[in-house]
Amino acid sequence: MAAKLLEVQGLRVAYDKIEAVTGVDLAVGQGQIVTVIGPNGAGKTTLLSAIMGVLPSSGRIVFDGKPREHAEIEEMVAAGMNLVPEKRELFSEMTVEDNLMLGAFDRYRRGLRDHDGTLAEVYELFPRLRERRGQLSGTLSGGERQMLAVGRALMAKPKLLMLDEPSLGLAPRIVREVFHIVARLRDMGVSILLIEQNARAALQVADYAYVLETGAVTLEGPAAQVAQDPRVVEVYLGLGHGAAAQAPA
Ligand code: ATP
Repeated sequence: MAAKLLEVQGLRVAYDKIEAVTGVDLAVGQGQIVTVIGPNGAGKTTLLSAIMGVLPSSGRIVFDGKPREHAEIEEMVAAGMNLVPEKRELFSEMTVEDNLMLGAFDRYRRGLRDHDGTLAEVYELFPRLRERRGQLSGTLSGGERQMLAVGRALMAKPKLLMLDEPSLGLAPRIVREVFHIVARLRDMGVSILLIEQNARAALQVADYAYVLETGAVTLEGPAAQVAQDPRVVEVYLGLGHGAAAQAPA
């Protein structure tokens, strides 16, 4: 694997007495797309929230060469981690461009004034956002909202972009578009941790994959290899699963 940008060892997260993540080891190499697939309730969102410092956890987290356990979210953002949550969490009463500019706020606060250049890059990646820059984000379509959420995260110039189910609720054509963007981001040097229920699309775009089930990793390997595992084929890629309809071209 390429040099590790993120390394997680023995990560445990509990809600009261119930452990939702029960000792997970995971790594993301520089410039890689790593995916975590798994069913509803497996602990995928919990895992991301703990890595980001939103939820307390135990275990070891090393990001960009430094141990980060017990780090708060602000420290992780400043260190170059950014999370696009499943619910997107945009400010619906604000325009597309104002939402994007908010993504650059932390850099601005730290005296970095490169937001105009970053905004131009985001608009190049998402021409549709440029067209709709003055539109209230609450009136965007589902796919446009997802693009805006990713664009806003990119305004922070993250080293690691974490995406929680970016395909959720989107039409197959839009899912393809979002995954093409994810691949382009990797080509631009952004490392990506991608959480997905759409295993077929995720395994096609990723370099490496983990299967998370009831809080534990049950299988991992290069994504192409995981995609051929008989159990993955049966449980996650089988025609009966519905994911087939969402396969990217
Ligand atoms: P989905 O794909 O449905 O979003 P997931 O894999 O992201 O699922 P999590 O949302 O991480 O799963 O949930 C893992 C487990 O933790 C589930 O059993 C869930 O009910 C539980 N859980 C999640 N959030 C809380 C909370 N705030 N309080 C108590 N239990 C929680």
